[in-house]
Amino acid sequence: MRPLQLVWLRQDLRINDNPALEQASKQGLVVCLYIETAKQHQAHDESVAKQSFRLACLQQLKSQLNQLNIPLIYRETDDFKSVAGVIEKLVEQHSIAALHFNREYPLNEKQRDDEVCELLKNKVSIQHYDGDLALEPSQLKTLQGQSYRVFTPYKKAWIKQFLMQGLSLARGPQTQKFDLSSVKQNDIALMDKHRNDLWPAGDLEALERLDSFEKKIPSYGNHRDFPSINGTSGLSPYLAVGAISVKQCIAKLMKKNIQHGDFSEDDMLSHVWLSELIWREFYRQILIDNCSTLSKHKPFKNKPENWIYGEIAVQRFEAWKNAKTGFPLIDAAMLQLKKTGWMHNRLRMLSAMFLTKLCLVDWRWGEKYFMQQLIDGDFASNNGGWQWCASTGADAAPYFRIMNPITQSKKFDQEGLFIKRFLPSLAELSPKEIHCPNAEQRQSCGYPQPIIDYPEARKEALRVLA
Ligand SMILES: Cc1cc2nc3c(=O)[nH]c(=O)nc-3n(C[C@H](O)[C@H](O)[C@H](O)COP(=O)(O)OP(=O)(O)OC[C@H]3O[C@@H](n4cnc5c(N)ncnc54)[C@H](O)[C@@H]3O)c2cc1C
Repeated sequence: MRPLQLVWLRQDLRINDNPALEQASKQGLVVCLYIETAKQHQAHDESVAKQSFRLACLQQLKSQLNQLNIPLIYRETDDFKSVAGVIEKLVEQHSIAALHFNREYPLNEKQRDDEVCELLKNKVSIQHYDGDLALEPSQLKTLQGQSYRVFTPYKKAWIKQFLMQGLSLARGPQTQKFDLSSVKQNDIALMDKHRNDLWPAGDLEALERLDSFEKKIPSYGNHRDFPSINGTSGLSPYLAVGAISVKQCIAKLMKKNIQHGDFSEDDMLSHVWLSELIWREFYRQILIDNCSTLSKHKPFKNKPENWIYGEIAVQRFEAWKNAKTGFPLIDAAMLQLKKTGWMHNRLRMLSAMFLTKLCLVDWRWGEKYFMQQLIDGDFASNNGGWQWCASTGADAAPYFRIMNPITQSKKFDQEGLFIKRFLPSLAELSPKEIHCPNAEQRQSCGYPQPIIDYPEARKEALRVLA
């Protein structure tokens, strides 16, 4: 019999372009393992939406793997501390020859993996890969050998490196000769909370979404800022659990595997969607380089912070969370988050700037609340996004950049279509009125007064945050 290879699946729930799965299947018979750690997810503020989506994706993956005679062993344990023991037991029970996994970058995940490696180093061969990134993290350094802290030079260096090395996707495993009944797989404990109507689970669904997004890629740059238009890929939940890889997205964008010389730097620089995917890589790189600072929710910039606390902060935070700020586009955005588990990127920026700069509430409160709600909650991107908006992060918005919630509303939801979708009580207001209803209109629609006076709040922010 070929040696048994254990593939420990985590945030990489896909058959294709999964380096751990590819390498394991080259080396022997594959057995997959997933360990659910519900208490750890809660400690990381992961939303129920994300937890249930991930389990639903896992279920899909299990049936695809089983069709290839690859078992997926499902185990549950409380937290990361007990994971090493679970794997050790399986390694001994099944005489596993090698353990394969794709790396994860936040601190607790790294510590968990270090513990597993330490415990098993003399018992099994351990092989890990960078399946969550298009470029290996160590490849990009400035001319001075430093890590990049600014996006534009990072993006240029990223494109240069990417064009030099090309893109190849890991192959999916073949059907193997294996008796599935020889392994106790266990049933996956699905959660009934998953919104399959909005986010059908699985890597096949992710590929379908990518296929149907392909025709929208040329108009992405023009449409992506308008929340009433379905102009973005909607792939973030799938990327967050690894049901699709960033390389698969780039391959679709470039229409083929990239060989050296196929594309010029200018071609690559002009792709707006690619730029967003590179933001994802940038925030991962920033996390890798500043892991203990960021994972402990410290600001990237070592500068005093002047947020307000106490009753007034709590009142503003509660109004923001409960869509009662009195600014229609902000409230519609917060309802989108609550009802669908997802929020449009422009609205994430707008609502995060509103909370931090206009309400002066600590960005960590908003970061945590987003994680608790988002189906695509991702530590690196969420922390990066919040620190960008709060001007505490790497290459963040300057402190004086403060989005005006009314001007933004007029510009990006001109007709008020998005607002009306989530705030039907404002449906009768005209496009002119809906962005900032007067006191009478608010009263007749049962809509709250604004919790802040924008010009005053802006003045105060400039004074406090300078
Ligand atoms: C305050 C704040 C919090 C955020 N929290 C998260 C989060 O928890 N998880 C998350 O995936 N994204 C987060 N983002 C980034 C971005 O808003 C979402 O990735 C995007 O809205 C997802 O929609 P989409 O899949 O249709 O994106 P598309 O526009 O189709 O982009 C494709 C992919 O590129 C990546 N991407 C796009 N924009 C960004 C960005 N600014 N930063 C990093 N990656 C990006 C995502 O993986 C996205 O799925 C946050 C942004 C802000 C401002």
